[in-house]
Amino acid sequence: MPQAQIIDGKIYSERVRAEVAQEVARLRRDHEIQPGLAVIVVGDDPASQVYVKSKGEQSLAAGMHSVTHRLPADAHIDELLLLIAGLNEDARIHGILLQLPLPGHLDQRAALGAISPDKDVDGLHVVNAGRLANGEPALTPCTPLGCMIMLRETLGDLTGKSAVVVGRSVLVGRPVAQLLLQADCTVTIAHSRTKNLAEVCRQADILVAAVGRPRMIQGDWIKPGAAVIDVGINRVPFDNPEKAAAGKTKLVGDVAFKEAREVAGWITPVPGGVGLMTVACLLQNTVTAAKRQNGID
Ligand code: NDP
Repeated sequence: MPQAQIIDGKIYSERVRAEVAQEVARLRRDHEIQPGLAVIVVGDDPASQVYVKSKGEQSLAAGMHSVTHRLPADAHIDELLLLIAGLNEDARIHGILLQLPLPGHLDQRAALGAISPDKDVDGLHVVNAGRLANGEPALTPCTPLGCMIMLRETLGDLTGKSAVVVGRSVLVGRPVAQLLLQADCTVTIAHSRTKNLAEVCRQADILVAAVGRPRMIQGDWIKPGAAVIDVGINRVPFDNPEKAAAGKTKLVGDVAFKEAREVAGWITPVPGGVGLMTVACLLQNTVTAAKRQNGID
């Protein structure tokens, strides 16, 4: 059997970003609206700083208005809520993204709940989760949106396909399952209490892994010809003992890529797969939010 085809996140994310840039140009030209994204970061977590920088740069590159607000690690919740309230009222800002995780003393739920659902471009407000669950127009979390773009581009119509999502987080597992259901798949959500997980996975025409456990999904858990979307991003030591001894690490997914590639029909790599879609979909959500706030189709 031939090896699985790679679903290349670089190609699809570049396409989404190009479409976004085109739409931003149209909104600026025809409606004098420049979609605006505000990113809030609290504290100095190095990974968060990298993500925030990338979000700022990519939104500017797409022609958007972009601002980053930095609060100190010991910021009081009132300071954060005041900032969010101001951005909710700011007509130049159509999307607000609160970089997670927050420092432990801050109530994440209260902060996310303070963002106007119409500007909640991360799709984490309960109102958007509810709209998604009801099948109503919602701002949808970015990573699940990226998974769906890749699946539709690869498989076309998803109707009737058996989809298994491993993971049930609010950020990835649940929303991706809702989107697969909206696409008329027959959806199973698996999690840490699922019995016979390998057997459950083997039923899947579409297998989405969002677990956070390096290479947990083995090749023989995969139905021959299935589409495998690996959301996991795990940092592990190099296999090469010398590099590992030097403390060098690399990124791997939740799927044992080499063996999975021998069985699957399509597969996303890590890195170079779903991860690249997340920021592209954030930009897309900001454009969607700007259009909805201005009554534009
Ligand atoms: P969470 O830790 O919030 O959720 C993990 C889920 O996996 C839980 O539902 C958990 O089940 C389930 N799980 C854990 N262990 C097992 C197991 N042994 N068998 C079956 N299910 C298990 O993680 P996230 O959803 O936030 O993230 C998942 C992965 O995706 C991570 O590697 C993360 O880094 C990555 N990620 C990647 C993004 C990207 O841009 N590509 C964006 C966001 C996340 P239970 O609910 O029962 O505990």
